Order: sequence, then structure tokens, then C-alpha cells
Amino acid sequence: MKPITDVIVIGAGFSGLSAAYYLQQKGLSVRVLEVSSQVGGRARSDIMHGYTLDRGLHFYHNSTTELSKIIQLDKLQLKNIYPGYLLCYEGMFHLFTNPLYQTLDTLSTAMAKNATFTDKIRLFGLYAKLKTSTYNKLVKEAESSTYEYLSKNGFSKKLIDSFFRPMLAANIFDYNLQASSRFSKLYLKSLFQDHIALPKNGIGSIAKAIADKLHDGTISYKTKVKRVSDNSLELINGEILEAKKIIIATNAIDANQLLGKRELPAECSHVSTLYFSTEHAPISKPVVILNGNNGTTLVNHVFVPTLLHSNYAPEGKHLVAVNVVKDHDLDDEELVAKCLTELSEWFGLKVMDWQYLKTYHIKYAMPFKPILDEIKFVQAISDNVYACGDCFSVGSMESALRSGRETANVIAQEISLSKSLYDDAIA
Ligand SMILES: Cc1cc2nc3c(=O)[nH]c(=O)nc-3n(C[C@H](O)[C@H](O)[C@H](O)COP(=O)(O)OP(=O)(O)OC[C@H]3O[C@@H](n4cnc5c(N)ncnc54)[C@H](O)[C@@H]3O)c2cc1C
Repeated sequence: MKPITDVIVIGAGFSGLSAAYYLQQKGLSVRVLEVSSQVGGRARSDIMHGYTLDRGLHFYHNSTTELSKIIQLDKLQLKNIYPGYLLCYEGMFHLFTNPLYQTLDTLSTAMAKNATFTDKIRLFGLYAKLKTSTYNKLVKEAESSTYEYLSKNGFSKKLIDSFFRPMLAANIFDYNLQASSRFSKLYLKSLFQDHIALPKNGIGSIAKAIADKLHDGTISYKTKVKRVSDNSLELINGEILEAKKIIIATNAIDANQLLGKRELPAECSHVSTLYFSTEHAPISKPVVILNGNNGTTLVNHVFVPTLLHSNYAPEGKHLVAVNVVKDHDLDDEELVAKCLTELSEWFGLKVMDWQYLKTYHIKYAMPFKPILDEIKFVQAISDNVYACGDCFSVGSMESALRSGRETANVIAQEISLSKSLYDDAIA
């Protein structure tokens, strides 16, 4: 009789790959089932006509620790983006630098017209506070919406609308500032203290490097799981697979579908990323450009990955990633036209020559948390089924990797405990 697999992992995103890696390190047999034809889940890249298209603009935060436990980071050839933002406000660009990393450009922040002098002092205070607070301390601070938190801390409505809205929308896709203030502060801390980087071969190269650490044949691609019960699961083709333990490492909406009930918090944020090609980059620095203008504009932020890694586009071309977070009812063609019209006000009419490449609409981008009660990385669903991923914490590659590692540790202990009970019983 074929021995039963120790663990089946559903999903080859960061959490599933991390769980599989740690389980194999402990000598357990693991199979990963992935519906798509690639690893990486939300953080993967496509190659199209020589362009590297990340499925939504992603960055690696340099001070995170989980990834370096699995792979050697130098293989990724990470390069840091500019520490701060270029804010487009009322027809002018202002550099909002991270004062913890830049000195010269801080002058530009000081001159920015969308912030009062008091705002600028408070902003510096917020950088310093978040830098020195611990994550544990921040999750215990008083809870409110992010908007309330910023208002209560004395930031002017003008700065909140023109800077914090697009900045938080660029990072956690919350333009309305309705996410939990604890959640936003955790994210802001990571943004303020870290250098933010992009790997040379696209964000998807990170997951590929983790997958290379798994035994050959661990991952079955184009394999969709339909339903999960306690020790078995059913594939879409009707096949039943059994394992001692099952880990659901999908996003929360897919996990609830597999379980046939709402077990996991499924509120989420969404984003669309439109890619364009051009011969001339619209700016010269690898900096995220934020739209500080309110009203009916849709473009939230823009980045040119080729200013960091020229191989993101064929020779002589630049790749531009344009991101939309606000709700709208435009179809793809209308959205492209609307974005180009808006961008012509930022960069001039030359944007009308940009060649449109592709749009990604990401319906489940990150978990959205109006209130953050606790942060968890391991969630038992039943005796033999676990869920892991980013939905119990802050949406990030780091929390997905950590969730995979911690879930693997718990499961490995349970399997070794039941094995020793079995050995004792037959001795
Ligand atoms: C546009 C965007 C930008 C982001 N920016 C950043 C950033 O800058 N930095 C950062 O740290 N994080 C960022 N994130 C968040 C980060 O991508 C996620 O937190 C992380 O990738 C989640 O990994 P996961 O393994 O939990 O889930 P997922 O990546 O969602 O993986 C789930 C996997 O399960 C598979 N699956 C689903 N259903 C089934 C099924 N029925 N059968 C088989 N397989 C199935 C899916 O195909 C997928 O591969 C961003 C996310 C988005 C969308």
C-alpha cells in the first residue's frame, strides 16, 4: 500500500511555499497543489514580449527577516527604490523624502505646498515615533480608523487628503483611510524604517527561489482543489486525495469556498495595475509618484521599474506601472484613456504616445481590517486542517512566510507526537 502523504498544502503562494519548505526540512512528505501554472500567488510576474510585468506593483522590505531564513538574498539582485515619494500636487512635483535616510532632499519636503509647517514637524515626529516603537506596542495602542488617528494627531485635512490618502492607498490600498489605525501604523513603521527594494527579475523571482529549495516534483501545477474535509480533499476532476494534515494556503475568500463556510475573515482591498511602454521615462528617479490631487482623478500612484532594473523592458524601452485604487465603473479601454488623460497633466502630452501593454485587476489584494484585535499566524480549522496566509495579520510577503513557517512547526509537532503514541502502542 502506498504510504499516506504527511501533508498536502493547497496553494503555492508565499505561505504555502514556506510551509512546504519547513515541513520538508523536518523530514515530512509534502505535496503542494497549485491551480495556476506558476508559484508566487499574488506576488508573481509574467513575461510578455520581453517586459516583466509584476502582478501589481510589489516591493520587498529589506529589514524583514523571514525570506533570508530560506534563501540567499543576494541571488535576487535587489536594488533599493528612492526612500520617499514624489508627490504630484496642483501641477507641481514635491519630493517627500524619508528623513531617516535622506538629508539633502529633505529641503524639498520642507518646501512642499500641501503641508503646513506644523504638519511637517508632526510628520517628522510620526517617522521618529514609529521607528522607535515596537510592533507589539503598536498593536496595543488605542484603536480607531486611520483617518481619525491622523486627525487626532493634528495633521491638517489638506495633508491627510493630499499625502496620507494616496500613500496608504499605494501600500495597503485604503484610499478612504478606514482601515484600523493599528494596521496602518504597523505598515507605516515597516515603510519608514526599511529600505524598499525590487529584485532584478521581477517580484515573481522571489517565490521561484523558494520553490527551488523544495524537493523535485513537490508542486503539482494546474491542480484545482474543490473541497476540503478533515483528512481528505477533492480535486475539481473528482479525484480524492488523502493526507495526515492539510494546509489551506490560499487567500481567505478561496479558503472559505474550499471549506464551504465562512471560517476566515475575508474583507479585502483591491487594486488595478496598468502597464505601458515608452522610449523615454517620465521621470529620472526610481521613486513612487503619488497623486496628491483629490476629486475625480483615478490614478493613485505610478512607478517606473526600468529606472531600477533596465531588464524589466526590452532594450531602449521603459516600463511604466500605473495604479488605480478608487472604485470606478469604466471598462479597460475607458480606464486606459482616463489614466492617460490624467497623466498628460502630470507629464505633458507625450504620454499619449505610450504603448498600452496590459491591465491586471486584483480583486483580493490584501486583507482589509477596520479593527485589528490580534495578529495570528497559525489557525486550526479542525483536528487535521489548518489555514495559513496573510489574512490574520498585515498583508505582506513577510507575514505569509511567517505564517507558513509557524504552521509547519505546529503540524510537525503534532505528526511526531501521534507517531510516538503509535510507536508506544505497538511496542
Ligand atoms: C498588488 C499587490 C501589491 C502588494 N505589495 C506588497 C508589497 O509591496 N510588499 C509585501 O510584502 N506584500 C505586498 N503585497 C501582499 C503580498 O503579495 C501577499 O501578502 C502575499 O503574497 C500573500 O501570500 P499568500 O501565500 O498568503 O497568498 P496568495 O499569494 O494569494 O497565494 C495563494 C495561492 O493559492 C492558489 N489557490 C487558490 N485557490 C486554489 C485552489 N482551489 N486550488 C489550488 N490552488 C489554489 C492561488 O493560485 C495562489 O497561488 C501586495 C499584494 C498585491 C496584490
